Amino acid sequence: MQVFQSIQEFKEYRKSLMSETIAFVPTMGALHDGHLELVKQAKKYANYVIVSIYVNPTQFGINEDLDKYPRTLESDLEKLNALNVNAVFTPSNTDIYPNGVDESTLVIVPTLSEKWCGLSRPQFFKGITKVVLRLFNIVQPTIALFGEKDFQQLQIIKRMVTDLFLDIRIVGIPIIREKNGLAMSSRNQYLTTEQKDEASTIFKSLHAAKNAFDTGTTDSNILKNAIRAHIEKTSIIIDYLAIIDPLTLEEVNIASTDCRIILAGTLSATRLIDNIKL
Ligand code: AMP
Repeated sequence: MQVFQSIQEFKEYRKSLMSETIAFVPTMGALHDGHLELVKQAKKYANYVIVSIYVNPTQFGINEDLDKYPRTLESDLEKLNALNVNAVFTPSNTDIYPNGVDESTLVIVPTLSEKWCGLSRPQFFKGITKVVLRLFNIVQPTIALFGEKDFQQLQIIKRMVTDLFLDIRIVGIPIIREKNGLAMSSRNQYLTTEQKDEASTIFKSLHAAKNAFDTGTTDSNILKNAIRAHIEKTSIIIDYLAIIDPLTLEEVNIASTDCRIILAGTLSATRLIDNIKL
C-alpha cells in the first residue's frame, strides 16, 4: 500500500494507473467498520482502491469539534493495509487549500444543502462540496463510495456530480451499526458505554417506526410522534426528525416506500445522525 501526502506525488502515481478503474473512498480517518465496509465494497467495483484521510476544516463550524476530532493515522493505515488498499492519500490543509480556506473556490448545491443538517450547520455542506470536488479532481476516480449514514451528504454529492457533468459513478452503502443498533461513527468515541446504549434508542425507535409503516401506518405525524416519545425518555435533544422524499429531501405527510426517516440530535454535546429507509 502506498501512502501519499503530496498532491504532486499522488498525481504522478495516478498517471501511472492510466485508464485502470479506480474506486475512491474519502474519509476523515478514525476508521471504524463502517468505513471499512465502504473499502470492502469498493474492491468489487474497480481494480484499484484509493482511500483519502483528511479532516477537512471547512466543514466544521467555529464552535464545533475540529480540534478534538479523533486522529488515529497509524492504526487507520494498518486497517487499510490489511484490506489491501492500493493507495492512501493524506493531504495537509495547505495542500488542499493553498490560498487559505476562506479564499478558495466554493461549490454550492442550492436547496438540498439548505435543509436539515444545513440549517443547524450552515457551513457544513459548503465545506463538503469544497473538499469532495477537489479530491475528485486529484484522484480522478471511476467510482466513489459514500455511506448512507450521511444520507443528505450522499444526495448532495450525487447532485453536484450530475450538475457539473463529472464522469464519476456515486454509490451509497447501507449503514453499518454496533450490535445495539447505534450507527457507527468516529464521534461515538466521545460517548461513554452508558451513553452509547442511550444513543441506540435512536435506531431502536426508527426501526419500530419502520415496523409500524410495514404494517400499514403511513401518517408521518403518527410515525414521528412514536419516535419522539421514545427519544424523549432519554437525554438526547432532537435537532430534526422528518420523513423525507429521498431525492428532493422534502418532508412528506404520507410516508411511502423508499422515503427515509431522518433524525439528528445531540447527546451531551455529541452530534448523532441516523436514518432508515422505508
Ligand atoms: P467520515 O470519515 O465520517 O467523513 O465518513 C467517511 C465515509 O464513511 C462517509 O461516506 C460516511 O457516510 C461513511 N460512513 C461513516 N459511518 C458509516 C457507517 N456507520 N456506515 C456506513 N458508512 C459510514
